Amino acid sequence: MKTKISTFLLAACCCVSAFGQQNFEQYFTPKSLRIDFTLNGNAESQMAAIHQLREEPVWGGPQKNLIDPFNYGGYYINVYNKQNNELIYSRGFNTLFEEWRTTEQAKNETQSWTNSISIPYPQVPVVIEITARDKKDMQFHPLLKQEVDPTSIFIDRSPLKSNHTVKILDNGDSKDKVDLVFIAEGYTAAEQDKFVADAQRFTEALFTTPPFDTRKNDFNVWAVGAVSEESGTDISGKGIYKNTALNSGYYTFGVDRYLTTPDMKSIRDAVWDVPCDAIFLLINAETYGGGGMYNFYACGTADNPRTPVVFTHEFGHSFAGLADEYFSSEVAYEDFYNTAHEPWEPNITTLVDFGSKWQDLLPAGTPVPTPLDENTGDKLGVYEGAGYQAKDIYRPVDHCMMRDYGPFCPACSRSILRMVSFLSDQTVE
Ligand SMILES: [Zn+2]
Repeated sequence: MKTKISTFLLAACCCVSAFGQQNFEQYFTPKSLRIDFTLNGNAESQMAAIHQLREEPVWGGPQKNLIDPFNYGGYYINVYNKQNNELIYSRGFNTLFEEWRTTEQAKNETQSWTNSISIPYPQVPVVIEITARDKKDMQFHPLLKQEVDPTSIFIDRSPLKSNHTVKILDNGDSKDKVDLVFIAEGYTAAEQDKFVADAQRFTEALFTTPPFDTRKNDFNVWAVGAVSEESGTDISGKGIYKNTALNSGYYTFGVDRYLTTPDMKSIRDAVWDVPCDAIFLLINAETYGGGGMYNFYACGTADNPRTPVVFTHEFGHSFAGLADEYFSSEVAYEDFYNTAHEPWEPNITTLVDFGSKWQDLLPAGTPVPTPLDENTGDKLGVYEGAGYQAKDIYRPVDHCMMRDYGPFCPACSRSILRMVSFLSDQTVE
């Protein structure tokens, strides 16, 4: 297993360096092809279907790092040159639907959820493929494969409503910067100044947190002022419903503080003309809450005293694919990780393939697993308890940002820095 993963990573890294700007210009234009698709299913099975394709005017993602080397997430979008089947773009991501599939409800109900992913706009006929990871073997298997002719009249090209957008942090051209986009949720027309001030406060919180503080110059930050009819968000467990731009609410999967939205289409509509590598939904509410899924979105409330730090934690999920390092949880997941396999997240391990994780960072002589006592804990080790389970899953330090808002541990920090490099078109070390 170890050799296999290492070989995969090596091969993928070679692809990244061999696949440069020239290839971007050969195959793509700096616009986006937005793919809206549904995922339908239940605990047992899932299928994908295209809902619509859209041409959108900007591409903020990398132009050199076109092949995703990380092997993160529950899904991959793969794009092949139709003429010779060469892989010309790929990117992993998570969805809220896959979390729902692990709940009790998914054992009794079948649902359809809307998702959306954007790729650079192809210049040549391509085949797009959506694959999903099967927890039974942790491998990706095809869900959907479809040819796309970029000149097709079936691709929607209509402009959408432009939201008032403020560039909070400007470090230059989007193609070699990480474009972090805050979207207003639950802010009325009269509350838009508050939104920009809130987004600025969160930006400051992020860039005073290591390791983000060392890479501020690699980011642009945007605040997209989507306007809601009503202020706040749904609290369905208390009978409160608000008419808001992105349809967010607490009580996701019945958990009171789990604040998300299933409405990926409205999110993508809000940023259709904004370059975008990472999305944070800033929700105009006070009660503690939030969530984050890798390369999907993260969200949190603006006005709770703890929220700048909650934001950083949730951004760790959505930006760098980090797992929760805590292991007592009211979250309604059942057997979220299959401990017979190595999880894909870089900051937890089942020790099935620890060599693919932070083993190379461990000080010499560190016992694996590492017993927790007054002399360990803050030192990098392999401590039992992580990923919602007290047994058989291990975390790098006792108290990381991904457990209970301590500083990001060395394993998390390295993963964040690698993602900053990838998205800002630098070499991934
Ligand atoms: Zn960590």
